[in-house]
Amino acid sequence: GVAGMAVTDSEALAALHRVFGYESFRGEQEAVVDHVIAGGDAVVLMPTGGGKSLCYQIPALVRPGTGVVVSPLIALMQDQVDALRALGVRAGFMNSTQDFDERRTVEAEFLAGELDLLYLAPERLRLDSSLDLLSRGKISVFAIDEAHCVSQWGHDFRPDYLTLSVLGERWPDVPRIALTATATDATHREITERLGMPDARHFVASFDRPNIQYRIVPKADPRKQLLAFLREEHAGDAGIVYCLSRNSVDRTAEFLSRNGIEAVPYHAGLDAGTRAAHQARFLREEGLVVVATIAFGMGIDKPDVRFVAHLDLPKSVEGYYQETGRAGRDGLPSTAWMAYGLNDVVQQRKLIQTGEGDEAFRRRAGQHLDAMLALCETVHCRRAGLLAYFGQEPSGENCGNCDTCLAPPETWDGTVAAQKVLSTVVRLQRERGQKFGAVQIVDILLGRRTAKVIQFDHDQLSVFGIGEELSEAQWRGVIRQLLAQGLLAVEGDYGTLVLTEASGSVLRREREVPLRKEPEKPAVSRAGGGS
Ligand code: ADP
Ligand code: ZN
Repeated sequence: GVAGMAVTDSEALAALHRVFGYESFRGEQEAVVDHVIAGGDAVVLMPTGGGKSLCYQIPALVRPGTGVVVSPLIALMQDQVDALRALGVRAGFMNSTQDFDERRTVEAEFLAGELDLLYLAPERLRLDSSLDLLSRGKISVFAIDEAHCVSQWGHDFRPDYLTLSVLGERWPDVPRIALTATATDATHREITERLGMPDARHFVASFDRPNIQYRIVPKADPRKQLLAFLREEHAGDAGIVYCLSRNSVDRTAEFLSRNGIEAVPYHAGLDAGTRAAHQARFLREEGLVVVATIAFGMGIDKPDVRFVAHLDLPKSVEGYYQETGRAGRDGLPSTAWMAYGLNDVVQQRKLIQTGEGDEAFRRRAGQHLDAMLALCETVHCRRAGLLAYFGQEPSGENCGNCDTCLAPPETWDGTVAAQKVLSTVVRLQRERGQKFGAVQIVDILLGRRTAKVIQFDHDQLSVFGIGEELSEAQWRGVIRQLLAQGLLAVEGDYGTLVLTEASGSVLRREREVPLRKEPEKPAVSRAGGGS
């Protein structure tokens, strides 16, 4: 009844004040907390930094028993538990990093009802011994953090998450709350289905991060572009630079350090000690740059990350959103900056084709990539594009805080240019067994007699030299956009360019090809001219 609600309310608020020292709940937090305290299941979609933790921590404190939190972030459990203990919360964790005695202590505390919160790695719940242990204690709520890990199509799939439906089966009376910062409809549905939560109430917060400025620039000399960006806009700021490969992480960190920017690498090839030390420095220090593969950042709560830079294209919009979302959790202005070029498209398409996974998997990966490419190539507001991807309405057509809103890109009629590229591809495709990529096509269009052009008699082709009106960078931009629009495809390991079903309509002049204008000379730097 109403009276009961009010009591619950004030208990939740009291816990918020007393334990966490916060004035009031934010956004959806209060509604979620009330619902779970009353015993309901919840699926919570909230952007990174939105305050998901309190959504289960408060119910765990208010309801009798221990709140069991399933989290894949083993490396962070110790920190999370330490932080909670510092606030006076009785918290513990169980994962593979513990020795026997430590685990026994936590088990005893749990059974004695002396824990408010118990963090568990998902693989624990595959073990009958763990399930038996849980059965012998009293559980107030199950929280399933990073719930998108249950999605087989997602970028963080963890097979162990598939076993979590057991929680609802064995403990039908214990409320469950699944939380994630990944919000596509598909992921949303998968979470509900696979975790077996058909009756859960859904709480969806706005995914807009108005303080993050989104910018995607054409890639020319990425490290130099990055350096100029950091010097001009983020000198002395903490930030994360994402690269695809370990090698590129190492080289970029080294390049930045050499150029006076404090930077450390982070990737799975470094030993655990080094990784932990670099992560600790990042959390503690004010102006450190971490150059990392995507292994870095999940669950890291550093409020003053001022920028996230991508030197390589993320595989999906979800990934891009999560990674850029690590910037500006404190609400202050921050930048999501990315350099993106033709090679990114070729490389990612190749990875999908030659990577593991069956046909359906490849198709899904291709769709993820297409959505990411569309975001890169858009001439409209990037924020609006991001929100639309997550099924949300932007508050206006122009956000005024992304590159396309700040400097609307011009478009041009690229139909003829597209026909020239596609005609060249047609001619090269006729040379059976030979494989040619973008470099050869551009050389032919520009009429360059390179060794490889001469070797294959490509200076004899009718298309040789028909593209002198555009620069090399512009041709690469045309090819990149054709790939992004599905008017060209990549085949095999060598980045061979081939026609698609849609190419024919361009060659037959049945459709126009509007293209985004590339800057004459991609701006490497405005201020860096002297160095
Ligand atoms: P998420 O898990 O959604 O990324 P967190 O739970 O880590 O977000 O919260 C992000 C930050 O916001 C944390 O520093 C947290 O302490 C703070 N926070 C969350 N809720 C509130 C609130 N109601 N009032 C003040 N600060 C809050
Ligand atoms: Zn915008």
